[in-house]
Amino acid sequence: KATRTPLMAGNWKMNLNHQEAVVLVQKLAWTLSDKRHDFAKVEVVVVPPFTDLRSVQTLVDGDRLLVKYGAQDVSVHESGAYTGEISAGMLAKLGVSYAVVGHSERRQHHHETDEVVNAKAHAALGAGITPIVCVGEGLEVRQSGEHVPFTMAQVAGSLAGFTGEQVAGLVVAYEPVWAIGTGEVATPEDAQEVCQAIRGQIREAHGEAAAAGVRVLYGGSVKASNVAGIMAKPDVDGALVGGASLQVDEFGGICRFY
Ligand code: PEP
Repeated sequence: KATRTPLMAGNWKMNLNHQEAVVLVQKLAWTLSDKRHDFAKVEVVVVPPFTDLRSVQTLVDGDRLLVKYGAQDVSVHESGAYTGEISAGMLAKLGVSYAVVGHSERRQHHHETDEVVNAKAHAALGAGITPIVCVGEGLEVRQSGEHVPFTMAQVAGSLAGFTGEQVAGLVVAYEPVWAIGTGEVATPEDAQEVCQAIRGQIREAHGEAAAAGVRVLYGGSVKASNVAGIMAKPDVDGALVGGASLQVDEFGGICRFY
């Protein structure tokens, strides 16, 4: 764990108008420039709507990139007649470092399968963008006790075709759907159980170096007040944050988890 840089990613989803987005990212950059905290220990990423990316790029563009930024989705296609889609190449041109793929809201509302998520992850990496591959079970699966095998199947499908070396640089986010936006947080032990299983499966499928390098995040109602317990777990390398990432004090507090 000591060799993996903690990653805190704030997924804004379809929230904030453009001015609010600009204000939030400026305030966040200001918060992270506070010399009393060593923010170099943590990688901070904001994930705004596509329409804010250009402005965010301008605002965080500096010689020391305190805030990196990502996209909430990416097309499986490189270019062509795909109305409404945004390609990985377009995102790369905007200096995007990360792309969330397979968020549960996309799996649910846009019927994205592991195959689609896998194709998106390959498209992102092909353009030099690190995919944040989201997996996690819904409430029914959790109640049936099948959450580990369910999530492992998503991991296997979503990471198919990547080499061990590639997987070592990827990010996987375990987000139990029942804990997203509900205020219901998985316990640190729940998070550790599945994050450890994910790393174990990656070790088997992609080798030791992949398991040692891949960063596994937890997501689901993470706040400044509960982040420390989750981050204390050996297989949790960061958090994917929804609601709390819209408030600079909350997200700043999450980035100061240590
Ligand atoms: C998310 O949607 O990725 C998420 C974790 O949301 P929230 O933090 O609001 O539960």
